[in-house]
Amino acid sequence: MRSAPTILHLDMDAFFAAAEQAAKPSLRGKPVVVGGLGVRGVVATASYEARRFGVHSAMPMAQARRLCPNAAYLVPRFSLYRSVSDQVMELLGRLSPLVEPLSLDEAFVDLEAGGTAHDAHSAREAGERLRRDILEATRLTGSVGLAGSKMLAKIGSEQAKPDGLVLIEPGTERELLGPMPVRTLPGVGPATGEHLRRAGMTTVAELAEAGEDELVRFLGKSHGAAIHRMAMGYDDRPVVAERDAKSVSVEDTFDVDLHDRVRIRTEVERLADRCVRRLRGSGHSGRTIVLKVRRFDFSTLTRSETLRGPTDDPAVVREAAARLLEAVDTTGGVRLLGVGVSGLADYTQEDLFAQAAAGESRDDEADTGPAREPAGEEPQEHQETPAPAERRWSAGQDVRHAEHGAGWVQGSGLGRVTVRFEEPWSVMPGRVRTFAVDDPDLEPSEPLPLVRQPPDQSSCPASRPKSRSPAGPVAGPGFPAASSEAEGGEVGFSGGAGRSRP
Ligand SMILES: [Mg+2]
Repeated sequence: MRSAPTILHLDMDAFFAAAEQAAKPSLRGKPVVVGGLGVRGVVATASYEARRFGVHSAMPMAQARRLCPNAAYLVPRFSLYRSVSDQVMELLGRLSPLVEPLSLDEAFVDLEAGGTAHDAHSAREAGERLRRDILEATRLTGSVGLAGSKMLAKIGSEQAKPDGLVLIEPGTERELLGPMPVRTLPGVGPATGEHLRRAGMTTVAELAEAGEDELVRFLGKSHGAAIHRMAMGYDDRPVVAERDAKSVSVEDTFDVDLHDRVRIRTEVERLADRCVRRLRGSGHSGRTIVLKVRRFDFSTLTRSETLRGPTDDPAVVREAAARLLEAVDTTGGVRLLGVGVSGLADYTQEDLFAQAAAGESRDDEADTGPAREPAGEEPQEHQETPAPAERRWSAGQDVRHAEHGAGWVQGSGLGRVTVRFEEPWSVMPGRVRTFAVDDPDLEPSEPLPLVRQPPDQSSCPASRPKSRSPAGPVAGPGFPAASSEAEGGEVGFSGGAGRSRP
């Protein structure tokens, strides 16, 4: 806990949805929902316009469609998000060597370690300058929290949303935290939150008043003590530059040992879902599913299973974790359960397109395995039209037409595909045209950058034009139109995911 608010937390506002709105002028100011469009799809990000209808991240897509039938429902375009994320993370890297990314669009920065700020004034200036630089480079807004600790910096950015900056003066932490719900604190998940609520503690102030001994009795020694410190506003966790998270895991400690097999299984499923959310949040999929069980006598077992290919499908992770659980004797009771995924791979756009296509064509059919086939090689037996190589077009996908140029798929069905022809820098919403799905003039293409590249840079598309000089202009770094290198390139961060928090 430092005495100056020099820990910065950046969180881009409705990142995936905002990127889509920046890329597609016709969607600006309109509800946009990005996520898996298949039957089992969930919302990755909803634009603020869609949130007004109650749509939020991790909600089943079917529910989102009921709440907000008029939103644009789009598949994620991770190669675009990753390129924008690279630009943002590069700007953060100019502020300090200590940047701790939590996901594609969220990171802590230790401004003091970078010599960028030493007090409230210089921290606020750095934060405002960062927000301007991000807007200029990406045309997207991000919110900034500044505080003397990570916990409060993150609370600050949450309060600042959207498009704002909140600085929490050291010394005001307890006053600020007091009325907040217990779930605000890192380490208080749904289970712990519910447990505390039953004990009559719903606000952080009530936790602080309960005292450490009481919380240790409720939550166990380390968890209880940690939560008490957080409730008092003490958070000494350093900003850690973490280059490669090798795994993502979550775990829960139970204050009362679990004996009921059904309950244990339910908890494992819940953990699997949480783990997948974190996995997706970091832009990864993984091959090895790990189950951790600490039994009544503190003996701890880990069991793992490696799948044929990487997955980020909650059903697959749930099933694998359940299989692993079958082989563990829990008769004496269970104190702790954890689910993790390791062997991480970056998402590829192909994975997601295949996933969307798989969800559409396979409906409720049980997943036979996590290996994703390219859309064109999906089993054909369920398709009404047995056309061997019918092309699939997913809503939001980038296309190029020989005559009409760059556009994106608005919708597809009954052998037709509707395309809106517009570019991120189009002044007016573009025109819509409909084609046969197999129109030879229409082909999938790579995302356009959100900021148009100046003509002098477009002549060398092979290099990734990043502005390295700290004083140099950051406008229009863009990325090559052919962004296959972005797929293969180093992500450069993926941290935060490796930590396991109760
Ligand atoms: Mg965000």
